[in-house]
Amino acid sequence: MRRNVRGDERRLHLLQLKIPTIGDTRRDVLISSLVSWFDLNARELPWRAVEDPYAVWVSEIMLQQTQVSTVIDYFERWMQTFPDVDSLACAELDDVLALWQGLGYYRRARYLHRGAKMVVDEFDGRLPGTGKELKRIPGIGPYTAGAIASIAFDEPEPIVDGNVIRVLSRLFALDVQPKERAHQKVIWALAEELVPDSRPGDFNQSLMELGATVCTPQNPNCLVCPVQSHCEGFATGEPTRFPRVARRGKVRKASAHAAIIIDPQGMVLVEQRPASGLLAGLWQFPSVDDGELDDLRDKLAVIGFEASDQEAIGEVSHRFSHIDMTITIWRFEVATTGVVNLESTMQWVSWEGLGEIAVSAAMRKVEEVARAHIG
Ligand code: SF4
Repeated sequence: MRRNVRGDERRLHLLQLKIPTIGDTRRDVLISSLVSWFDLNARELPWRAVEDPYAVWVSEIMLQQTQVSTVIDYFERWMQTFPDVDSLACAELDDVLALWQGLGYYRRARYLHRGAKMVVDEFDGRLPGTGKELKRIPGIGPYTAGAIASIAFDEPEPIVDGNVIRVLSRLFALDVQPKERAHQKVIWALAEELVPDSRPGDFNQSLMELGATVCTPQNPNCLVCPVQSHCEGFATGEPTRFPRVARRGKVRKASAHAAIIIDPQGMVLVEQRPASGLLAGLWQFPSVDDGELDDLRDKLAVIGFEASDQEAIGEVSHRFSHIDMTITIWRFEVATTGVVNLESTMQWVSWEGLGEIAVSAAMRKVEEVARAHIG
């Protein structure tokens, strides 16, 4: 049972936030029910088999915005290639991005790389154990800091992700809109109130695991839920009312054009995207993200290629977080207007070499169409 000054301050804080305080008995029952359930039902996942703060860090970053089933292979490959902070810090960014290829949201890989350099430079190559210090590392926000501190260092730090928001909203019948800051504060305060001093990492993982496997968004399996008898959302008869579903942000449509240009030796022209913004630093066939075919022709003319003829060889669609992009793929016959002045961000690569550079998932689709066309 936890009763101390810090706990009393937190309860006062919860009252100020107008959310229900949790009695000690209910809190203890919730914690023990969830941790016991987790002991019996936790999925076997590769990052759970190792007690390594670095592995927890890598897995938590990969799991942001990506499903567990997809992450498993990536995690195993990553740990074979970069088994520790030092090996990641010494790696070339291009190699890091190439290994991340297909996971999307490449900023996460860039942050891991930068973070590893900082851990080597400022923490002697060892991840620090407190949430406060962890949050100084690039790409580690409150969620990841809480996950590393609680799972790898047994610190009673809370964590809140989409699964935790759903489970806590239902357990306490909180009619919250999770995207709103004030409501996020409420959920964080509740998670902090609940996280125990003993086995905080397992408790945090039990909440996330329950959200991922039992208390799912559309069809919570309340009949097998270990905390059903303490769940206010279940008691209302409509647990899926909690939390309130956020309205989706507007998705913008974009028409992109990509050029397939092959030199007499069979090499294909690629360019690197700018260092910031969408798909920063990744390689692609020369493209315009949103515009007309003429914009692409102009772009090629600037480097000395005059597009004399082009043929549309296919079209692919790709959904980024807020952009629905349709990419028309053009096979260009080009003549040089004199000196070909490739920009420093462009290069010729072989088709085999394309597999070794970091290319976005959208461009892999373009590559497939181009390969099928060329035969
Ligand atoms: Fe979720 Fe149902 Fe369990 Fe409540 S009883 S936490 S709604 S699965």
